[in-house]
Amino acid sequence: MITKKILVTPGDGIGPEVTKQAIHVLKTVAPRFELQLELSEKPVGGVAYDLTGTPIPDETLEAAKNSDAVLLGAVGGPKWEPLDFSVRPERGLLKLRSELELYANLRPAVIYGDLVNASTLKPEIVDGADLMVVRELTGGIYFGEPRGVEIRNGERVGFNTLVYSESEIRRIAKVGFEIAMKRKKKLTSVDKANVLESTELWREIVTEVGKDFPEVELSHMYADNAAMQIIRNPKQFDTMVTTNMFGDILSDAAAMMTGSLGMLPSASIGGKNGMYEPVHGSAPDISGQDKANPLAMILSVGMMLRYSFDLTEADEMIQQAVVKTLETYRTDDIMAEGKTLIGCQEMGERVLQILEQK
Ligand code: NAD
Repeated sequence: MITKKILVTPGDGIGPEVTKQAIHVLKTVAPRFELQLELSEKPVGGVAYDLTGTPIPDETLEAAKNSDAVLLGAVGGPKWEPLDFSVRPERGLLKLRSELELYANLRPAVIYGDLVNASTLKPEIVDGADLMVVRELTGGIYFGEPRGVEIRNGERVGFNTLVYSESEIRRIAKVGFEIAMKRKKKLTSVDKANVLESTELWREIVTEVGKDFPEVELSHMYADNAAMQIIRNPKQFDTMVTTNMFGDILSDAAAMMTGSLGMLPSASIGGKNGMYEPVHGSAPDISGQDKANPLAMILSVGMMLRYSFDLTEADEMIQQAVVKTLETYRTDDIMAEGKTLIGCQEMGERVLQILEQK
C-alpha cells in the first residue's frame, strides 16, 4: 500500500454536491490499486471568504502545498459578486494555482459512448474523438509585461506582451511529450510561428525537446488552422501542446464538441503536486437542487489517479463505469430520449454500482 495525502476543497454552489459523489468514487477505486488515502477538507472561494474574510485562507494554502494532490469543486456565485476584485472567490483559485506553480493545464475532450448525439457536430465527425489539450498556464500574453492602457499621441492605447522564455517553453513541451507518451504518442504543437517571434522560439524549443522523445510523432500547426481542424476533423489529433492564450481558446473549442460542461474534467500540473477540478463553475442556477451532473468531477478524480499517481488503469476503470452508466441514466444537462433522468446523488450511486461490480 502507498499512502497519498489529498486536500479536498469543495468550494461553492454545486461544488460540494459533485465533490461528495467524486469522493465516494475515489474511496471505492483507490484501495483496489493499493492506494491508501489521507483526505482532509478545507474551505476555498466564497465559503472561505464568509468564514475568514479571504477566498484562500493560509491554512488552505498550506494544506494544499503539503498534499500530494488537490481536488477542487467550484467557486463563486452571485452572493460574492459585489466584493472587491481582490477578495472574489475566483482570486482564491488563481492564487492556489500560482502558489502551487501549476504551469500545465490538461483538458481532455472525449466523446463518451452515445453522448455523441449531444455534440453540435455530426456524429461521424466526433464519434471516437479523444483529444488532450496541454495548455501553458502561467506565462504568455496573460502575464507578460509591459501591459496596460495609456495615452499615446492623444488617444488611449491598450497593450500586452507575449513573452516566453526558453525554460518556460521547455518545461511545457516536456509535459506535452510525457502526456503524449501515455496516450497515442502523437503530439501537435500549436503556434503562430509565421507571424510571432515568440512562437518561432516556441517551435524551435519544442522540436529540440522532441529529440528526447523519439517515439512521439511531433507535428506543428498554426493556431488558426488548428481551430479549423478541431471542428473539421477532431479525430486527427491525439495530444496538443500550446501557449496560454491559444490553449484557452482551443481547449474550449475542443471541449464543446463533447456537448456538455457537466462532462469536462481538468488537471493542472507542473509543480510538486497537481490540482484536479471540473471545467464548469459553481452553477448557482441549479445549486442545492440535486440537479448537477457529477461526472466532470468524477472524471477529474480519474485524471488525478492517472496523472498524479500513475494509475492509468484506475482512470480507465472510472471512464468505463461512466460510459456504462450513461447508456441508461442521464442528468438533466445531458438528458436524451429513451434515457432515465436522475439527479446528482443517484448519478454518483449508479457509477459506484458499476464500479463495485468490477
Ligand atoms: P457555470 O459553469 O457555473 O454554469 C454555466 C451553465 O452550465 C449553467 O446553466 C449551469 O447550470 C450549467 N452547468 C455547469 N455545470 C454543470 C453541471 N455539473 N451539471 C449540470 N449543469 C451544469 O458558469 P457561470 O454560470 O458562468 O458561472 C457561475 C459562477 O461560477 C460564477 O461565479 C463564476 O465566476 C464561477 N466559475 C467558477 C469556475 C471554477 O470554479 N473553476 C469556473 C467557471 C465559473
